[in-house]
Amino acid sequence: MQGINNYLCAMQQMQNGDTICALATAPGTGAIAVLRIAGPAAFRVVNAIFLPPDGGTAAFEATRPYSIHFGQLHDAGRIVDEVLVSVFKSPRSYTGDDILEISCHGSEYIQQEILQLLQRHGARLAEPGEFTLRAFLNGKIDLSQAEAVADLIAARHASAHQAALQQLRGGYSDTMRRLRQQLIDFASLLELELDFAEEDVEFANREKLRTLVGELLREVRLLEGSFSAGNVMKHGVPVLIAGKPNVGKSTLLNALLSEERAIVSEIAGTTRDVIEDHLVIQGIRFRFMDTAGIRETDDSIERIGVERTLQHAAKSAILVYVCDPAQSDAESLQEEIRQLIQQSGNSNAPVIVVINKSDRYSSEDLHQRYAPLPEVLLLSAKEGWQLDILKEKLCAAALPLTAVAGQTTVTNARHAGSLHQAAQALQKVMDGIDSSLSTDLLAFELRDAIHHIGRITGEVYTEDLLGNIFSRFCIGK
Ligand code: GDP
Repeated sequence: MQGINNYLCAMQQMQNGDTICALATAPGTGAIAVLRIAGPAAFRVVNAIFLPPDGGTAAFEATRPYSIHFGQLHDAGRIVDEVLVSVFKSPRSYTGDDILEISCHGSEYIQQEILQLLQRHGARLAEPGEFTLRAFLNGKIDLSQAEAVADLIAARHASAHQAALQQLRGGYSDTMRRLRQQLIDFASLLELELDFAEEDVEFANREKLRTLVGELLREVRLLEGSFSAGNVMKHGVPVLIAGKPNVGKSTLLNALLSEERAIVSEIAGTTRDVIEDHLVIQGIRFRFMDTAGIRETDDSIERIGVERTLQHAAKSAILVYVCDPAQSDAESLQEEIRQLIQQSGNSNAPVIVVINKSDRYSSEDLHQRYAPLPEVLLLSAKEGWQLDILKEKLCAAALPLTAVAGQTTVTNARHAGSLHQAAQALQKVMDGIDSSLSTDLLAFELRDAIHHIGRITGEVYTEDLLGNIFSRFCIGK
């Protein structure tokens, strides 16, 4: 709540024309650090502490925009550092304000000295995300683009990076705006009918309205549906490693991650909880889950583990089913997989069948034993055999799950929630048309849908919503 209150305060101060400053690079020691100062007094503040090499006085307001200036920063004559100052002039800057970016030597001492200097000369420390908040309030970017900035900074793999970049570039916002505009156009026709209610005219042909709302509903649902692909792009493809106890699931996860992460033990049923880890293969991020083995059990703790396995199997995009030849023949293996699919209710996820511990058997023997199964991978987790083939199979299975290039994909849970609510409102409009609902109620539902779509790009926002979004940003962004 504190963060949100700070926000409301920051928004008021912004309207009062505050000038804000913050470290823009990561805190700590580096080769260089960048500090940012934005607001109507930015030039005046830095003019007061900047010494140009020719010994004159600085006048950043008179310099060319997008120019860089070398000089020294001083505190009442004491030199603090040699710096480069980049100039961005309002309105053509990140926030729309006058902005100066000071590149200094990256010692923490220098960074703090400069921050204090800027504050002593009239700037105040920025709240987390306040620069981006200003960019939004000044109309430089919309809300979904502001959220994309946070996603872009947080992206640690190719697909999350791609999704954030797509959203930042505004293609996504265009789709939302187009949708909203179409809804507004129709809503205004309905409003017109309301104005002429006594004359009983129908400006918005109900059949046409029905067709349009149907199309919009399909589009909104498609976007809402793209969230699962978007989620995969952002958080990784969920892969469950399943199989009976002691078949080598933990050993396989360790081998994939090349580190001792799960507990490997010879006592059946040791991996009672679910262990999660991430791995990036060919730019695709996978989220692996190693679980309690599936078997009939009386141990209550282990039973919970088995239930969790089934829950995770239900949510997985890919299942890796591990088998120990000493435990299952082809027939029982097929039955185990069938049961897992049936009990978890997930028949969509592709299953990669891994015959583990192949170092103990001849491959001819194993091929013969598991010949009835359509495709199995002989592997040794312990020896690290055939892991590359498993990785290839994982990538091939994941490819259709990562969103199609160029298609708008929803990666943000907040957006998916708004789309869901918009879809519900549109469905009510459809039902309303079918049951000849009065024009004012139809218009009400339509306005509700418009409201929810508008929340995505920030055409409609509350201060609490902004507080929630921007207080999660880092300082200096
Ligand atoms: P989990 O219960 O399925 O997670 O099985 P673990 O990974 O704990 O492994 C059970 C036992 O099988 C351990 O003693 C492992 O060292 C052994 N094991 C796992 N993979 C292999 C393998 O590829 N070859 C051989 N020979 N032993 C393995």
